[in-house]
Amino acid sequence: MTVTIAKILYVLLAVGWYVIRIPHERRARKTPVARSARGMREIVLLAISFSGLGLIPFIYVATGAFRFANYPFQPVLAWIGAFVAVGALVLFHRTHRALGRNWSVSLDLRDSHRLVTGGVYRYVRHPMYSAFWLWAIAQALLLPNWIAGFSGMIGFGTLYFFRVGHEERLMIDGFGAEYTEYMSRTGRVIPWL
Ligand code: SAH
Repeated sequence: MTVTIAKILYVLLAVGWYVIRIPHERRARKTPVARSARGMREIVLLAISFSGLGLIPFIYVATGAFRFANYPFQPVLAWIGAFVAVGALVLFHRTHRALGRNWSVSLDLRDSHRLVTGGVYRYVRHPMYSAFWLWAIAQALLLPNWIAGFSGMIGFGTLYFFRVGHEERLMIDGFGAEYTEYMSRTGRVIPWL
């Protein structure tokens, strides 16, 4: 593994990430929303997350920017990163399959929204966010640059910590005891935690 191969792998896997999402974005546009917690705050959080996970690493890979923040490349870390990224992709795909038409890029309850508690939602109530955390870790392992590597964890971390409480409140508003009971037997992003 060389730094160029690590960058190419990162780009290919990032394309895979996007390809997994495309059909769900199409379907989401067609599925009516019954109640939403979207707002300026969500727009800002999504922009921060997108910058850290997409924009900054893309600029780094495409232009070699942030060169001053490079550090020596370690092939073994990049190999671990590649495996973690593949795991993140598999989990990301499964969460989309399990959520189906209940998925939103932001915080919405759709018409006839169903609470999903099976599949990868059985032990963890935010497995899509687990996949994003794994992806952000993989980004840090694959890109040997303090800025482009760690921007994913900072960007997604900001979205996660400011959003997850709001999301759970939305779910409690919508599903009441069904959701609080589901909360009591699941971890947020790590099983049994
Ligand atoms: N936080 C979840 C889902 C992210 S997508 C995860 O990490 O896997 C965000 C949308 O999913 C929100 O609009 C929310 O209403 C919906 N959602 C979250 N958990 C859900 C569940 N268990 N069943 C159905 N919809 C859910």
